[in-house]
Amino acid sequence: MVNNYMEEIVRNYLDDILRTDPSYSNICRCDHCIDDIMAKALNNLNPYYITTKKGEVFAEYSSLETQHHAEVISEVVKAIEFVSKHKNHD
Ligand SMILES: [Zn+2]
Repeated sequence: MVNNYMEEIVRNYLDDILRTDPSYSNICRCDHCIDDIMAKALNNLNPYYITTKKGEVFAEYSSLETQHHAEVISEVVKAIEFVSKHKNHD
């Protein structure tokens, strides 16, 4: 099975930022907005496809995390700000 591992990484950072950054404490966190944020961030990042085999995932994750840490966070923050200003529902 092939997965875009960037999706997991974006989700992790997104959870982290929403949980710890007080400037985003008021934004909508419904499934719809979270999906919009995920999609927007992922469109601006290179996909990182992996085949899922137990044990390999974490090694891949840590090297990728170091490499793209700042870039991923900056795209996630941009996506949060965009979606919170352009909410797609009432
Ligand atoms: Zn929402």
